[in-house]
Amino acid sequence: TDPQRIRNFCIIAHIDHGKSTLADRMLQLTGVVDQRQMRAQYLDRMDIERERGITIKSQAVRMPWTVREGGLAGEPYVLNMIDTPGHVDFTYEVSRSLAACEGAVLLVDAAQGIEAQTLANLYLALENDLHIIPVLNKIDLPAAQPDKYAEELAHLIGGDPADCLRVSGKTGEGVPELLDEIVRQFTPPTGDPAAPPRALIFDSVYDIYRGVVTYVRMVDGRIEARDRLTMMSTGATHELLELGVISPEPTKSPALGVGEVGYLITGVKDVRQSKVGDTVTALGRPAAEALGGYSDPKPMVYSGLYPIDGSDYPALRDALDKLKLNDAALAYEPETSAALGFGFRCGFLGLLHLEIIRERLEREFNLDLISTAPNVVYRVELEDDTEHIVTNPSEYPTGKVAAVCEPVVRATVLTPNDFVGAVMEICQNRRGKLLGMDYLSADRVELRYTLPLAEIIFDFFDQLKSRTRGYASLDYEPSGEQSADLVKVDILLNSEPVDAFSAIVHKDKAYAYGVQLTTKLRKLIPRQQFEVPIQAAIGTKIIARENIRAMRKDVLAKCYGGDITRKRKLLEKQKEGKKRMKMVGRVEVPQEAFIAALSTS
Ligand code: GDP
Ligand code: MG
Repeated sequence: TDPQRIRNFCIIAHIDHGKSTLADRMLQLTGVVDQRQMRAQYLDRMDIERERGITIKSQAVRMPWTVREGGLAGEPYVLNMIDTPGHVDFTYEVSRSLAACEGAVLLVDAAQGIEAQTLANLYLALENDLHIIPVLNKIDLPAAQPDKYAEELAHLIGGDPADCLRVSGKTGEGVPELLDEIVRQFTPPTGDPAAPPRALIFDSVYDIYRGVVTYVRMVDGRIEARDRLTMMSTGATHELLELGVISPEPTKSPALGVGEVGYLITGVKDVRQSKVGDTVTALGRPAAEALGGYSDPKPMVYSGLYPIDGSDYPALRDALDKLKLNDAALAYEPETSAALGFGFRCGFLGLLHLEIIRERLEREFNLDLISTAPNVVYRVELEDDTEHIVTNPSEYPTGKVAAVCEPVVRATVLTPNDFVGAVMEICQNRRGKLLGMDYLSADRVELRYTLPLAEIIFDFFDQLKSRTRGYASLDYEPSGEQSADLVKVDILLNSEPVDAFSAIVHKDKAYAYGVQLTTKLRKLIPRQQFEVPIQAAIGTKIIARENIRAMRKDVLAKCYGGDITRKRKLLEKQKEGKKRMKMVGRVEVPQEAFIAALSTS
């Protein structure tokens, strides 16, 4: 295809403002998906996306479009649309998509107005030099106020409120006009068709039937079906088995040229050989320089993942290897826990990311897992001048602590005027520092705070939503670290620490954590032959204590001198139970007790 006839764009918006639904209408109007095949949120292909109604992976689709009226009318074009996720945990997916586009459709719900991720995504698009078309969506809703929000949008990005398009992804109203404007306003891809080929890998997926499928955006030159390919970061070469475009299912094609978006299959089995952000070139005519890739996102939240059945450990490792292929942000390292056995310490971008990885491991790989309470990454300086990065609280260094640093974020909260007080209270309770406050319009306020990441990842968002009746929205980005009054709390069972329950918490919250955990464990751990203290401690100082009273009689005492088969049965039953027992010092704890304590925290 002539690059002049190509437009590559993405749709960016706050979550639920209707990206996937608008994408559906575009697929229909361009004839890529017919009435019979159509289902809502067509591009959300993963079960988990469909059930939760959210987009996790970006998707690229090629659509033909002929401008109907106005300038360029009657000319056939190729549109490559990249649908993106909206949640803050997946910002890195959005930035990858943006690098493959020339333009962005900025979608805003006409009944809601600008939200926190509208701003975040807009800034990302501007950083990538994308042309922006502002669009108000859901104009079919009775509560829509397109005039008001067109004003707000124009105020934000400059320009005239009249330039804001108005559409309904639900009814399709205004969508053909939007497609026309996409052709007219966005620039065609630039790139040298005569140069050696260079293609940017923006996604890479493992498919059980076809092996690794790599999604690319061609920048220069051409890749043809018979080429041998080289990955520029490693120099590894691969046979090209198939190449094509997604429209909306994979369709083979003889070549990909400048500006085109498509997929490559090389028969690579090892998922790491087709890395997102890498540049693909042809072995026969290699490019000299790689394209600027992406910096790998850094995990922000860590948690231990353990198979409930210890023999699943190798399967868990394989599954993590596979998910890692199209998720550069996922990190993992083997670790062992006295309480939980063999597992992995895994790093995630946030709690939603953790939840989704865990759910995919359980569903797609049939694993039963338990995860430890998530924590952020701490940097501990000791008085002997050594420095320790702590991703697992039970590996907190021993020695005299000089300082503990925790990650902080710059958070933006958008809220209607009426809830400013509530938002400030929530932020202050979580050690937030107000940076500034702006009125986006007469009744909508933007509040900027610095907050410890550890305070924001847990129930901050739920609190924010409930205290503002769902009206406030949140976005945040990493913003360095700060030193704080943090302590490590250990939970001791008969004086032995239980690694899975160690936590690093702010001094003021240590006592509450100690009481909560000791109480919970007392209820879950069965009585032993002797009395067992459960304590919470900071170093050697005990801050909370509960006791499990001793058992009065052993199992056999009840039927002393009685029926021998009954005794045997009781012993057998005890042996069965023993297999799933974990020893913490002299104390026997059923694994279920740990699982219960972790899963409700
Ligand atoms: P995304 O998170 O931005 O991909 O949003 P979705 O496309 O999943 O849409 C979120 C919700 O808004 C869904 O319940 C859609 O049915 C609804 N929705 C999307 N577009 C429209 C629209 O134009 N009008 C109305 N009334 N509802 C819409
Ligand atoms: Mg979506």
